[in-house]
Amino acid sequence: DYLGTMTTKLTLSTSKEGFFPITRAIQELITREQVGEGICLVFCPHTTAGITINEHADRDVVHDMLIGLGSIVTEDSRFRHAEGNSTAHLKASLVGSSVMVPIAQGRLVLGTWQGIWFCEFDGPRERAYLCTIIRG
Ligand code: ZN
Repeated sequence: DYLGTMTTKLTLSTSKEGFFPITRAIQELITREQVGEGICLVFCPHTTAGITINEHADRDVVHDMLIGLGSIVTEDSRFRHAEGNSTAHLKASLVGSSVMVPIAQGRLVLGTWQGIWFCEFDGPRERAYLCTIIRG
């Protein structure tokens, strides 16, 4: 293992709104690059999509999160943004645009029930996310 930082762009096709699991793709990158120990920063470079960590064993959880976000963030006649997708911008900020996960012995260190999700709020689109791996 050498020390250093590497950023890789990964892509996915999304639907109108939804949570897309990206843990496996990120783990495959870590395995392919033979990273033993380090940190992985997963960053979403979009303003109407985000990245979060939450339960991946029961898919009903992310289903319910979408419903909950839709209850929290509703259309408002005072919104000004001409593109008309202010709710998507709000949801993107609520979930955030990045997560950091430790890497140990070549594996993402996630809790048993945790997975990394790409959160789409204004699709369908071709989206990208960046994985910056810091070896250490
Ligand atoms: Zn917009």
